[in-house]
Parts: sequence; structure tokens; C-alpha cells
Amino acid sequence: MAILTDRKSLREYDVIIVGSGAGGGMMGMLLALNGVKVLMIEAGRNYDPQKETPMFNTPDKAPLRGKGTQDRFFGHYDATVGGGWQVPGEPYGDKPGTEEEFWWWRPRMLGGRTNHWGRISLRFGEYDFKPKSRDGLGFDWPISYTDLAPYYDKAELMVGIYGSTEGLENTPDSPPGILQPAPKPRAAELLIKKYSKGLNIPVVPIHRAVLSEPMDGPARAAKLFPNNPSAQRIVGNDMSMRAACFWATTCGRGCSIRANFQSTTVLIPPALQTGNLDIITDAMVREVMMDANGKATGVHYVDKITRTDAIAKARIVILSASTCETARILLNSKSALFPNGLANGSGQVGKNLTDSVGSSMGGHVPELESLPPYNEDGAGGGHVYTPWWNYKTQEKLGFARGYHIEMGGGRYMPGMGSLAILDQKAPGVYGKKLKEEAKRYYGAVVGFAGRGEMIPNENCYCEIDPNRVDQWGIPTLRFHWKWSDHEINQATHMQNTFAEIINSMGGKATPKPGKEALNKPGEIIHEAGTAMMGSDAKSSVVNSFGQTWDVKNLFLMDASILPSNPDKNLTLTVLALAWRSADYLLDEMKQGNI
Ligand SMILES: Cc1cc2nc3c(=O)[nH]c(=O)nc-3n(C[C@H](O)[C@H](O)[C@H](O)COP(=O)(O)OP(=O)(O)OC[C@H]3O[C@@H](n4cnc5c(N)ncnc54)[C@H](O)[C@@H]3O)c2cc1C
Ligand code: SF4
Repeated sequence: MAILTDRKSLREYDVIIVGSGAGGGMMGMLLALNGVKVLMIEAGRNYDPQKETPMFNTPDKAPLRGKGTQDRFFGHYDATVGGGWQVPGEPYGDKPGTEEEFWWWRPRMLGGRTNHWGRISLRFGEYDFKPKSRDGLGFDWPISYTDLAPYYDKAELMVGIYGSTEGLENTPDSPPGILQPAPKPRAAELLIKKYSKGLNIPVVPIHRAVLSEPMDGPARAAKLFPNNPSAQRIVGNDMSMRAACFWATTCGRGCSIRANFQSTTVLIPPALQTGNLDIITDAMVREVMMDANGKATGVHYVDKITRTDAIAKARIVILSASTCETARILLNSKSALFPNGLANGSGQVGKNLTDSVGSSMGGHVPELESLPPYNEDGAGGGHVYTPWWNYKTQEKLGFARGYHIEMGGGRYMPGMGSLAILDQKAPGVYGKKLKEEAKRYYGAVVGFAGRGEMIPNENCYCEIDPNRVDQWGIPTLRFHWKWSDHEINQATHMQNTFAEIINSMGGKATPKPGKEALNKPGEIIHEAGTAMMGSDAKSSVVNSFGQTWDVKNLFLMDASILPSNPDKNLTLTVLALAWRSADYLLDEMKQGNI
């Protein structure tokens, strides 16, 4: 079994998984390791980071010196294939009357967004699972932190995370023996930490899905799969083949030595080694097929290579196509039994859509000018961050919940825009003077990005556009959005905080009002909540295992099922939920309940 190119060999499977990103990859690996015959169906093309990652290419070798363009938004070498904010031939739109335009990020590649994500991996805390009980807003989860904690442990052991334990409020520590050592802060990060301390703002090591040391594969695999010798052998060997980070390249391009986490380098390889996983790529699922008794029987998809319709059958279907695409498949799966879309008895599919609240600011810091050359290589991402620090004064702030701050600065590999500061500080210089000014100012800028919790509201949702189909004939989505004062006030607080830090460092920063400084809805690419979990079928779409209330053999496993979207980036939680759900599903299958 392998990546299928001959679609005619398709047989009937135990489980079909739609999507191969964080949720789909984790489910696929765990089921395959336990002897379940799985077919993974992926809309994008096959993608192999070990062969395709341009790790060492310098910007001068790329068109426009590697600068981001409309179809390569995060730069020429970024690991995004086949899409981005737009996918050719697959439009989406805004519902008339919306206040804001929603941005929807979609790569079309095996492994999905895990190939180019930022790898920031923070556990949700105790408060994050019960937000409504604390402040009356949004929804509580049907589970608590203690239910998910053992699965965070497993996901972190599997993926490999660097970070530290700090004992902070609502910022859970991992048990000993799980995290790998955090890299040392760079000069700019140390300086931010020094000045932030004066403002009582903590700066601590961030957690990222990057190996800072080699993995002891057999020992980790024995902890993860104590009763499964074959899983121990396959995963243990595979983990040991992953190299540790050498601190010199850009994680967003992917990692050919497998030091950072991508579904394609960490989850799919061991799954394929079991012989229990088949993958079809270039296959766009349009709907879930049902029988007359209301059971899912498989999926209907478009084979993008031949542009023909096809079907695949299985006892169980799992949708992991990402938050909005999973809602789209459900809403497009209409039948006499399910006239409003599948698993939509509650009417909640597509509703409660959230994204992180985002706002950012950069600033020049004179103290960082003309530093002597020194080696500040590091992971292709930040080494430190600020967890939310205002729990005690929350009520006075004018917005609910909190945000964390991602920060950075330093002398990364120069590219287009690296010396944009010269336009302000030394406009028009050339020759020897240009070199002097470049040496003076390069690395003398720091940047801050806030990532905050949005409260779900009834004005933020997606639905099927009655007037439009994509190039495959599949009805498309349209979005409706309105920020509430919580998000606008939170972004204002972010701006004031960033300016305070930059000004305390000797820079000159002016905060913008929140509405002006807010990122677009969807722009932070942390969408969640279109098919949320809950305690009953009337008000939610799935139970806490991602099993739909209305169709017993249909599961959802991506961020669509999150009832809230805390400031802590959500992918680690999707991975942990997938592990919990896989355990439940295996048990139900063993007992013959599904
Ligand atoms: C630039 C960037 C930075 C990010 N940084 C972070 C970060 O630091 N920390 C963090 O936690 N999160 C981050 N994220 C978000 C993170 O990538 C996502 O939360 C995560 O990948 C979601 O996993 P998923 O399984 O839901 O979806 P995906 O990883 O997107 O996978 C879904 C897959 O389903 C496929 N698919 C979609 N529709 C269909 C269909 N109809 N038929 C078949 N297949 C289909 C897609 O092609 C895709 O491969 C970032 C994202 C981006 C883009
Ligand atoms: S910085 Fe490390 S993890 Fe990131 S791409 Fe380079 S080697 Fe891989």
C-alpha cells in the first residue's frame, strides 16, 4: 500500500480520512498503526519535503529576490503549493451585508498547512476549556484540561517540542521528560526581555515543534505505544531517523532533515510503513455518501487528474479537511434525510467561526545599532514569547480573554525588505555610505505580533453560496463577519503594549486604534469552530470525540470542532484531540459499536 496513482485499485476500506494535515495525518497514523485499513483522500498534490525543500537557497537565486507575491505570499521558497489566499478555479466570497472581508488560506498539497505553519505549539490551559463559566461569554467545552492533558503529553512526545516549564497561570507545563531544551534567546530577544521586565510583562521561552536534540526513538515509542510492539518498532525507528535542528534555515520552507513537524515528515511516513494506509492525492471530496438508514458509506470526490467523478467506500468517514472546508463538505452533503446538510440537526454547521485576533507593530531600537558581527543563528522562528499576563486585572480591561505576544528581531538571512529602515533613517545614500548605514541599521528593528482570543458571535459564519460553484462543480462558501468590541478593544490594548515596550527600549512608536490595527478576519490562519463539540445534539455538531451526533460513523477531526479559540495557537490541540478521538474510535470499533 502506498500513495495511489492507479485509482482503479481502490477497494473498500475500514476508514476514509479526508485531508492529510494536522488532524487527518494524526488520525491516519494512529489508526494505521492499530491495523485499521485507511484511505486518505487529499485535494492537493503529492508533496515530499525531503526532496522538495529548498533549504539552502539564498534569495538572490529566486525571482524578485524571493519577495512574496500574490501566489507565493510568504516568499518564493515558502512551502505552500497549489494555493494560498486564492486557489485557481476555487473561489469563495463574502455574503452581502458583511462588515469585513474574510481571508481564507488554503494550500493544496499533501500535509496541508503543516508544511508551512509557524510551529508554535502551546497547550490550552484550564480556563480555556471553561471560558463561559468564567465570564459568561461563548461556550464551555464538554471536556476539561485534565481530560486532554494525557493526550497533549502523547502529541508532544510524538511531534517533538522545544520549550520550558515556567509555572505560569493558565499556561500548562508539560510533565518532565517531554519537552526538549529551548534555544537561547537572541540579542534582540534578550533586550526585549530586559525592558519588558521593567513593565512587568513576562518574556519566556516559546514552545515550538522543532527538535533541539535528536530523539531517542525507541524510548519515546515505548512510552507512546506500550502494548503495540509493531507500532513501537515502526515509530521508534522512524523517530530516530529525524535529525535535530542545525539552527540556520527558514522553517516556513519546510525541513528536509525532518527536524520540524510536518504531517508529511512525522505522521505519514510511519503510517505508510504499516502497509495499512493508502493515499489518493489530487482528489477533491465534494460530499459524504449516505445509505437509506442514515449511515455514511463513503465519499464522492472529483479526480482532479482525469476531471471525472469517483467514489470511495468505507465503514467510517472522518472529515479533516480544515475548519471551513469540513463545514463546506457537510453543508454540500444534502439528502432527503438531511435536507439542511449533514450532521446539521442543530443548525450549527458553519456557525461560530472564529480566527485569532491579530495586530502587529515594528520599531527601531537604537541600542541594537552597529552591533559587532556575531552568530545569532537559531530556529526559523522566535525563541521567546509573552504569555497572557493580565488574568488578575482582566475585568478592568474592557475586553474578555487575553492574547500572547510573538516577538522577534535580529539578523536573519537578508532578503527583500530587510533594510527597509534605510528609507527612513538614511534615504538616498549610496556607495560606501550605504554600506556603513546598512551595517549600522541591519538587525536594529524589533517586531511584535499579538495573537488573541476572539469570542464567537452570531455574525461570524460561513455558508454555501447559492449562486456559485468552483471549477469542479462544487458549490462554494461565502463568509459573513463582524468584529465585536471585545476584539477591537483587545487589539487596542495590543497596540498600546507594543508601543510601550518599543518606547521603553528607546524607540519611537505610536499605537493605532484597534479597528485600524486589526488583521483581517482569517488572516491569522487560525480558523476554528464551524462544527463545534458540545454536550448535546441540540446545540452542537459533535461530541467530545468528534463523532457527529446525527451520524454515528461520521467523525470530524480538525479545528472545526473547537468551541472556543484561545490565544494559544490551536494546532497542538487538534493533534491531541485527534489522539483522544482515535483511542475512542478504536475502542468503539473493537466493541462492534461502529
Ligand atoms: C503561515 C501559517 C502559520 C501558522 N502558524 C501556526 C502556528 O505557529 N501554530 C499553530 O498552532 N498553527 C499555526 N497555523 C495554523 C495551522 O497550520 C493549522 O491550524 C493546522 O494546519 C490545521 O490543521 P488541519 O488538519 O485542520 O488543516 P490542514 O493542515 O490545512 O489540512 C487540511 C487538508 O485537507 C485538504 N482538503 C481540503 N479540502 C479538501 C477536500 N474537499 N477534499 C480532499 N482534501 C481536502 C487540504 O488540501 C489540506 O491538505 C499556521 C498556518 C499558516 C498557514
Ligand atoms: S531551523 Fe531547524 S527546524 Fe527549521 S528548517 Fe532549519 S533545520 Fe529545520
